Amino acid sequence: MALLQIAEPGQSTRPHEHKLAVGIDLGTTNSLVATVRSGVTETLPDEDGNHLLPSIVRYTEDDVVVGFKAKVNSVDDPQNTIVSVKRLMGRGIEDLKTLGEQLPYQFVDSDSSVPKIKTVAGNKTAMEVSAEILKKLKQRSENTLGDELVGAVITVPAYFDDAQRQATKDAAKLANLKVLRLLNEPTAAAVAYGLDSAQEGVIAVYDLGGGTFDISILRLTKGVFEVLATGGDSALGGDDFDHAIAEWVITQSGIKNSELNSSSIRLLMQEACTAKEALSEIDEVELNIELGDNQKWFGLLNRETFNELVDPLIKKSLMSCRRALRDAKIDREDIHDVVMVGGSTRMLRVRELVGDFFLHEPLVSIDPDRVVAIGAATQANALAGNNPDGDMLLLDVLPLSLGIETMGGLTEKIIHRNTPIPVSRAQDFTTYKDGQTAMSIHVVQGERELVTDCRSLAKFELRGFPPQVAGAARIRVSFQVDADGLLHVTAREETSGVEAHVEVKPSYGLSDSEIETMLRDSMEHAVEDKGLRNLREMQVEADRVIEALDAAIADDGDSMLEADEKNSILEARAVLVDARANATDEQLVKQAMESLEKASANYVARRMNASVQTSMAGHKVEEFSSEESEK
Ligand code: AMP
Repeated sequence: MALLQIAEPGQSTRPHEHKLAVGIDLGTTNSLVATVRSGVTETLPDEDGNHLLPSIVRYTEDDVVVGFKAKVNSVDDPQNTIVSVKRLMGRGIEDLKTLGEQLPYQFVDSDSSVPKIKTVAGNKTAMEVSAEILKKLKQRSENTLGDELVGAVITVPAYFDDAQRQATKDAAKLANLKVLRLLNEPTAAAVAYGLDSAQEGVIAVYDLGGGTFDISILRLTKGVFEVLATGGDSALGGDDFDHAIAEWVITQSGIKNSELNSSSIRLLMQEACTAKEALSEIDEVELNIELGDNQKWFGLLNRETFNELVDPLIKKSLMSCRRALRDAKIDREDIHDVVMVGGSTRMLRVRELVGDFFLHEPLVSIDPDRVVAIGAATQANALAGNNPDGDMLLLDVLPLSLGIETMGGLTEKIIHRNTPIPVSRAQDFTTYKDGQTAMSIHVVQGERELVTDCRSLAKFELRGFPPQVAGAARIRVSFQVDADGLLHVTAREETSGVEAHVEVKPSYGLSDSEIETMLRDSMEHAVEDKGLRNLREMQVEADRVIEALDAAIADDGDSMLEADEKNSILEARAVLVDARANATDEQLVKQAMESLEKASANYVARRMNASVQTSMAGHKVEEFSSEESEK
């Protein structure tokens, strides 16, 4: 198994050569930057002493404002103030249309497949918005550290797909920031804890942020982190807890949703968020809310009611935990520690229910808002060559299997889900038809047996290899997933060396909940899928037999077949054609195929004899002596 070595031994630099590298936690709600200074890993504050930078960008006609200053205007100017842009990264216009209903922005179709948000400063992509956040953090680092950065490790949720990872890299490029590596957030948290307290054993990383939930099961052994499984829900986070409170307020106040405009909704959400955060400290909060058109509502929210409102959300996260444990083949009792990440894990109810579930008091010793940035900074430091011990190894895993389409619309998995990355795997395929000189490669992602039930990632063609008989060509399809989780696929015809490749950058993102649905579907349909696969394989085989027979009859049927024999062969052929088209059980196709083989056995034997005789014609018998033929 290929381990990813993040720093070569001996790569360390002398103190005066210390290279400035940072770790960036590019969060949905807040972002952070951290670095290692004099052996201490710390997050860097802005000039006002704030470590967190709200991930909010406001566009005016002649300026771009990021962070707290933008947050102030998020109520008054919602259309130009972009919040939670991380949710839009790598998403296509179709995804955004559905998300758009909950968002106050106007999306415009652009020439490229990348959708844009309409602002007073022009139309902006999610990458451009995200780049503003990165620029701000880069500037903060360079101001604080007094020199240019060599690069940054940027963290992404474990479930970010290729498009979302690529969008993050593109945002960094726009910010003129070199990406040393994208790192999964739970892995970064594990780095922070693993290095600081040198734990060993299996740990769960429970990460509940503003907009997403991730659960990861990691094995930690002397500086080596292996991600055994990941799971989560990209549509679950602190925002949903705010929503739960806001909905409760609306119900309590009797105001209709239609009476609320986007500013008052935003204001209500802010009040709900403040109340939620206060309940992490006190037992009861007062809510004094303006609900548009001079309507006001006052009420009290106590912890008990709050718990009732949010328990279903927490339980939803625990369902993902249960699934991740099952994937990792780990019992709850085997979990050594539970690391809490993300601002929402400050909620006492979350800590309580997570502790009950994992039978462990969760770890909260490192600030859950900073732990990811701290881990990222630790790795950035090592990647920049500043780590004298430089032997830390990291493993991440693929969330879904990757494969290609084969005959009959079936998927052939090349790399299975939960395989540690980076990874390279290759598999050989061959041609289906005589004289075939091209092959189309369809790259898919998912667990199901049929291509139509998986997600299509890319299609490309391998063209121009020499024609040969069916099954003779050897086409090696190699999948390579790099340390950032990006996939490169190469197809090569081995005899001619003809090659084609694709770097998979799908235009549409895949959310955690979609991944979950795909996994759930694959489990629910496992038996049915197996049956369908067997049937499809048999159908492909039947097609091959029918095609070969038709070609043979067209070639020499008239001269080699008596009428009776031909009739019985054609009858058996008709039965097979019917079974191939209508049978729902592969056994029926198999039986029909066997009958056809029986009916045509003599004919096939005669053809083979004739062909041997033809190829021997003009040669001496000695040429076919055993010594020669063994070669
Ligand atoms: P993150 O995406 O990790 O920055 O997490 C942000 C989320 O954490 C937001 O939904 C915040 O409202 C939430 N959060 C921050 N502090 C607290 C707190 N003390 N109690 C409850 N939720 C909090």
